[in-house]
Amino acid sequence: MGHSTSLSPDNIQDVKKAILHKLVFALGVEPREASRRNWLNAALRVVRDLSTQSWLQTRRSQAANTSRRVYYLSMEFLMGRTFSNAMIAEGVYELVKAAFDELGQDLEDIINEEGDPGLGNGGLGRLAACYMDSLAAMKIPAIGYGIRYEYGMFRQEIKNGEQVEHPDYWLEQEFAWPYVRASKRFKVRFGGRTWQEGKKTHWRAEEEIIAQAHDQLIPGFETSATNSLRLWSAHAGEKVFDLADFNRGDYFAAMSHQNSSENVSRVLYPDDSTYNGRELRLRQEYFLCSASVQDILRRHEVESGSCENLADKVAIHLNDTHPTLAIPELMRILIDDKGYDWAKAWEITRKTFYYTNHTLMSEALESWPVEMIARILPRHLQIIFEINEWFLQQVREKFVGDDDLVRRVSIIDENGERRVRMAWLAVIASSKVNGVAKIHSDLMVESIFADFARIYPERFTNVTNGVTPRRWIQIANPGLTRILDKHIGQNWRTALTELDKLNRLIDDPNVQAEVIAVKVENKRKLAAYIEKTQGITLNPEAIFDVQIKRIHKYKRQQLNVLHIITLYNRILKNPTADWQPRVFIFAGKAASAYYAAKKVIRLINDVANVVNNDPRIRDLIKVVFIPNYSVSLAQLIIPAADLSEQISLAGTEASGTSNMKFALNGALTIGTLDGANVEILERVGRENIFIFGHTVEQVEALRRNGYSPYHYFERDGELNEAISQILNGKFSPDDPYRYQDLILNSGDYYQACADYRSYVDTQEQVADYFRDKKAWARSAMINIANMGYFSSDRSVLDYAREIWQIEPMSDEQIATQPKIAELFTDATERVRSK
Ligand SMILES: *Cc1c(COP(=O)(O)O)cnc(C)c1O
Repeated sequence: MGHSTSLSPDNIQDVKKAILHKLVFALGVEPREASRRNWLNAALRVVRDLSTQSWLQTRRSQAANTSRRVYYLSMEFLMGRTFSNAMIAEGVYELVKAAFDELGQDLEDIINEEGDPGLGNGGLGRLAACYMDSLAAMKIPAIGYGIRYEYGMFRQEIKNGEQVEHPDYWLEQEFAWPYVRASKRFKVRFGGRTWQEGKKTHWRAEEEIIAQAHDQLIPGFETSATNSLRLWSAHAGEKVFDLADFNRGDYFAAMSHQNSSENVSRVLYPDDSTYNGRELRLRQEYFLCSASVQDILRRHEVESGSCENLADKVAIHLNDTHPTLAIPELMRILIDDKGYDWAKAWEITRKTFYYTNHTLMSEALESWPVEMIARILPRHLQIIFEINEWFLQQVREKFVGDDDLVRRVSIIDENGERRVRMAWLAVIASSKVNGVAKIHSDLMVESIFADFARIYPERFTNVTNGVTPRRWIQIANPGLTRILDKHIGQNWRTALTELDKLNRLIDDPNVQAEVIAVKVENKRKLAAYIEKTQGITLNPEAIFDVQIKRIHKYKRQQLNVLHIITLYNRILKNPTADWQPRVFIFAGKAASAYYAAKKVIRLINDVANVVNNDPRIRDLIKVVFIPNYSVSLAQLIIPAADLSEQISLAGTEASGTSNMKFALNGALTIGTLDGANVEILERVGRENIFIFGHTVEQVEALRRNGYSPYHYFERDGELNEAISQILNGKFSPDDPYRYQDLILNSGDYYQACADYRSYVDTQEQVADYFRDKKAWARSAMINIANMGYFSSDRSVLDYAREIWQIEPMSDEQIATQPKIAELFTDATERVRSK
């Protein structure tokens, strides 16, 4: 690649020496006793040195730059492994591989040694991670802000078919990538009371926590632009040491307060689709917002002198409502600390914020009891009331006499216990509000934000999600990377619409054969992993039919299971027919308190147990549940998929991003007209995707008319049989009543029964089509060729242009410099002299 440092013997020696140097002098380990993890951390440090030079330069050029910077606030960042990503960004992958060859180490083993920090639940956190990668690659000045949870997403084990959760103490393993910024500490305060002194409001908090910064470098692919992800950890502030306890000599009692403050960054909430009104979560959200806003203002004041022009330089983006408290926090600091009057502070605030909505499901919409906010953030509650008063006044003036509207759009929900509606606050204070796929953004303004769309018609827009091609093709799928490089050149990595060139080759039998061969190679690799970890042998000629995502009723893993059972029954009834072998692969975690979702995991494993071990099936069907889904597992599984299951009930999946990753890797989609599936269909055409099921309109009509699963259960023999088998304990003979409460008795809110027939029939078409290997490969190529739009590079450029009004930096703005040679010289000296 153009940007890669050459594989000259000198460069290889330099890198080898650099790795040894880090091993000895940064880690204190001798080469002969070094473990793989030691090698990994030594090499991470070497690559980090390269990125650090660009990082310091980028920061300096951004500080001097007059344009705007975006601050991306998110409670979750699901980054995946950093090492391979950083190597390809710096163009040293081959070089490091050659150096490790000489050191007698296998680079792939070392890459696989890295843990996968689970600082997110699923799609929302992974989106933030893809955006961080793309913001850097597209040279958009950006800093991500999040929480460095000590315990990330739990580690999932499957024991007797059931999910068992284990704490994920990821910090136990040394992770050499981040910098701890001892000097970047902010006080975050909670509780206490407020009082008025003339016009000025004072807040005396009763508790103070220190937020400490940890920076991860985000190197932009093939550019010197390097952004940061700043994660906060919580530490005990001075005030929480109870002096009385100390004086009594009760050291342990005094220190126990320390524990309670540090709880704030202890653990990620393992649920992303239901709102959970727990106080600790509110404290976490405020902790992120307060530390980040203070840091943003500090940086801005250093660069600009005052907050007057804040909005010219600062865009703050809220990834869902979780960081909405940044709004009253900015207001508080501007008014109480900087002395602005209310109107001016509000003007600055409104020009600074932007908000992405991620869900229309009411159970996921955040609202906090007024009483709780009053107790934990009394000053912020006042500010929220003031914002509401200002806003409702505007509404009353514009919509005279419409009291009902006023009640509906009030930030304070007065029905029953008074609550603060976070989404309302986010909409009112943001310049732009976007959904994450076309259909979602349309539904958003027709449903939850319909009133606001009348009040602020220009505020709402769409930015369809995307995924980064560096991680999801180049790193995850080396075989496909080879094919693309050979036939369409290498530019697709940062210009994904180049994939379009593949459209010219879809009928070329040689390229088709290459695509088929790579898919089989990837399937063998996944099969080897499954064989090794679970002892299940898979047939690489079978259709690999994959559903990997959070386990949730709206995603309808149970519909997939109903098809498996149907296929099982059909094979038993007609054993000699020419069946197409299938491997059903599942992975995903269920929120620990989500009883029904955990039951679905158990059902999948119970069905697997029966089907996999029934000799009459002759291995025509295999069902595999791969435990502990993660970004790294996704990178292994997705390139091996033939069929991508995107079967959520229409109107429930805002966008989805795994649908994009699969299509990009040449899997065909079986899916509903939901989320980004709709836009994938537009690009690949009806013939190259399997669409089934009810549309949003049909779903709503059914619901209006009183949906009943029994209607379908009674009329469809195969559905009846499959459900009856589940209910009668066919798959749980040890406990025949295990699934009594599933599907029918739970009311089938997500209408699996209504879409069953259409789904099963469409699956039959899938099996028929798969027999024609060339036609399938051609469709797979059409999928790949037309996925260029779904690059997160395109998404972040849309955000920059249409939402944040930010110009990407130019390469001249960030002077490039030679890198390898500097590993042995005084890098800081060199950087300073630039
Ligand atoms: C892409 C991704 C997701 C999102 O998957 P959806 O099917 O879009 O919900 C979740 N988790 C991981 C690890 C991912 O890589």
